[in-house]
Amino acid sequence: MKVFVLNSGSSSIKFQIIETNTQKTLMKGLCERIGHENSIYTVTNVEKDLKDKNVPVYFHDHEEAIKKVLSLITDERIGVLKDYSEIDAIGHRVVHGGEYFKDSAVITDEVLKDIESVSHLAPLHNPANIKGINVCKRLMPDKANVAVFDTSFHQTLEEEKYIYALKYEDYEKYQIRKYGFHGTSVRYIVKKLDKIDSSLKNIIVCHLGNGASITAVKDGKSFDTTMGFTPLAGLPMGTRSGDIDPSILEYLSNVKEFNEKEMLNYLNKECGMKGLCGSSDNRDILSLIDKGNKNAKLALNVFCNKIASYIGSYYVELGGLDAIIFTGGIGENSPETREYVCDRLKAIGVKLDKGHNFMRTNDDVLLTDRDSKVKVYRIRTNEELMIALDVERLVL
Ligand code: ADP
Repeated sequence: MKVFVLNSGSSSIKFQIIETNTQKTLMKGLCERIGHENSIYTVTNVEKDLKDKNVPVYFHDHEEAIKKVLSLITDERIGVLKDYSEIDAIGHRVVHGGEYFKDSAVITDEVLKDIESVSHLAPLHNPANIKGINVCKRLMPDKANVAVFDTSFHQTLEEEKYIYALKYEDYEKYQIRKYGFHGTSVRYIVKKLDKIDSSLKNIIVCHLGNGASITAVKDGKSFDTTMGFTPLAGLPMGTRSGDIDPSILEYLSNVKEFNEKEMLNYLNKECGMKGLCGSSDNRDILSLIDKGNKNAKLALNVFCNKIASYIGSYYVELGGLDAIIFTGGIGENSPETREYVCDRLKAIGVKLDKGHNFMRTNDDVLLTDRDSKVKVYRIRTNEELMIALDVERLVL
């Protein structure tokens, strides 16, 4: 089955064409700065290894960008399909499914209404996701559309894990609770790990990218996770603060004279690794550390310390631990970060094999010594493939 996977953001869209039989990406691309004068696109035909990078084209809106994508998919030189009727179905990344969606869903009018009704929980994301869905429905009315939610995997959390100790009525009235994100990635990892070793029942998935979260998984189900009501909670990230004392907000608004919007912008875009050392990029941080930069070292220590402390806490919650998985841009590609974290996990019996940890390979690898009490793996995630496989499961 050929699936068009679409991730429609507020000013950008990412897409892939995936053949589910081979699980291969045929084509992928990105339109950026939609609605701005300097909008551009990048597109790659994976099989032919052909790439058009940062091509300037003015995209007035999402519809124009998606029309361009469809013409690129069928382009004689760089395209992969003769006609877009060859697309079998469409998979949409949707950030928030609230408490409605415990699984991905074929998009009907009712499903779309439910997605709209939880948009207030992700006002920066869901409206943009809905735009993508509506444009696809208009341009390709005969295709099935499937919504795949970042939150749905975490709907198995028990109440004691997702409830905040606020007034209970505020959960009931306003749905204030932990939702968790990165669920599509974690689900993919759980599926892949099960194929590697199906005896691993208590696992912790560290999805470490610009956005970073940790999820405890028991018997294949999400058991606890670090992101919360929004993706701002939990670990410090590239530019997000992660958990802080909530009273800091009032203090900050006084000393910096922030309004609500400025406060959220500060916490989401100016803090985390960038706030501590000036760069949000793990590669820059590592090279700054090499040059003796103390703040870069502090930033990485803060990041790794928090990761290790959540792992310790989830070890207790799960009642034991079989495996830890590193994934995401940093988790997959930064052996230094993995080592910093694992050095802090000796108390729970983690023994890293440093040779394996630094091995350059695209394969999924076991990183621990034979006598390590907890196994540690590096596994590459693929959220787009997970979306395509959900489409296949729900549409075929
Ligand atoms: P996003 O949350 O935006 O999807 P990614 O999963 O792409 O983020 O991860 C981005 C992070 O991965 C950046 O901090 C980047 O520095 C890091 N990263 C990517 N490649 C490497 C590498 N080879 N070594 C160290 N860090 C890397």
